[in-house]
Amino acid sequence: MDCIFCRIAAGQAPARVVFESPRVLAFEDLHPQAPVHVLVVPREHVDSLWELVDGALAGELLLAAAEVARSKGLARGFRVITNARRDGGQEVEHLHLHVVGGKRLGRMLPS
Ligand code: 5GP
Ligand code: ZN
Repeated sequence: MDCIFCRIAAGQAPARVVFESPRVLAFEDLHPQAPVHVLVVPREHVDSLWELVDGALAGELLLAAAEVARSKGLARGFRVITNARRDGGQEVEHLHLHVVGGKRLGRMLPS
């Protein structure tokens, strides 16, 4: 298994887990880009949002992101991002939602 997020989901690589359910896991990003930066991933391997076809799993991922935001106290606001494929800037090829917050975030995209 050469996918780092599959290894984390299988308990074979370390991570600071903040949310767990049977199909979804959330853990702290190794290189946080905001005071709160959590990654929400499906336990099963899906390359990116491009490949996602399971609507129930999509819902569970989004609800997990909301639960992470609430548990981190992000009532002032937060952002959920998924980078997909090369032009999207995806570096880890296992679908993940970034939940970022804890500060006033700038523009979504550089203008
Ligand atoms: P992407 O650019 O694919 O959307 O984001 C990948 C994210 O995964 C980056 O924010 C990066 O810091 C994070 N990351 C990469 N490898 C690891 C790891 O082994 N553990 C954790 N917790 N985060 C990782
Ligand atoms: Zn994987």
